[in-house]
Amino acid sequence: MSKPKIAICDFTDCEGCQVQIISLREKLLDLEKHFDIVDWRLVQAKKEKGPYFATLVEGTPITPSEIETLKYFREQSKYIFGLGSCASLAGIPGIISKENREKWYKIIYGAGYKPQGIDALPIQAFVKVDFLIHGCPVGQEQLVRFFEELMAGQTPSYRNYSVCFECKVEGNPCRLVEKKPCLGPITQAGCKAVCVSGGSACYGCFGLRTEPNIRALLTILNNITDKKEIERYFTMFLSRTEEYQKIVKPNL
Ligand code: SF4
Ligand code: SF4
Ligand code: SF4
Repeated sequence: MSKPKIAICDFTDCEGCQVQIISLREKLLDLEKHFDIVDWRLVQAKKEKGPYFATLVEGTPITPSEIETLKYFREQSKYIFGLGSCASLAGIPGIISKENREKWYKIIYGAGYKPQGIDALPIQAFVKVDFLIHGCPVGQEQLVRFFEELMAGQTPSYRNYSVCFECKVEGNPCRLVEKKPCLGPITQAGCKAVCVSGGSACYGCFGLRTEPNIRALLTILNNITDKKEIERYFTMFLSRTEEYQKIVKPNL
């Protein structure tokens, strides 16, 4: 019996999340027992047309042709899964504002240059998405969990608690108590608070948790730092979210 077909495609990004899949090494052989990866530009010459059981989408489409390609995969796939923060949140490509992008286009390419690129947006802005695998890059443990759920015929599920929960399990002192900014309370768990454990803040690359209390966190952050710094934190990964536009931006 033929195996369900999987495609892995990428748009504007750094390809780091696909490298995480490649780095699963022998675990990829388990995946191959259940699925046939028929289109994966980064690693194989084999390229079959749809329909596909599922397509994993890395990166954000920023040109008309990339948007058309994304729509093609949506039409051809039973499931579409976002792979990493560039796909799920517009991620790193979304950091630059429209104004700054246009300014830099002129500086780099000259005044006559006609850019094709649009503002980076999450892939959900263009097509229906069935599940988002968060992270920048996505974690290997998450990928294994995701693929196991997929192979078992289950619907992948989100963790409905924040990074703070995992941060406490890891035994970290709380940055907010130490008067240092952190977006852990509003960020979906799954990374085991790796940044905080490594001495940095959480910048929200896993996206917003369910019902995040952003106003409460803003009150705390306003007592810790200035608005410019708060903007810097929120615009690392979350600037394209509705919550940032409606709740955070008007308060900056
Ligand atoms: S989410 Fe991060 S690691 Fe993954 S493709 Fe985007 S920039 Fe690269
Ligand atoms: S350091 Fe950040 S992630 Fe950890 S408990 Fe405090 S706010 Fe939450
Ligand atoms: S701690 Fe925050 S920024 Fe770091 S990986 Fe986890 S969710 Fe992403």
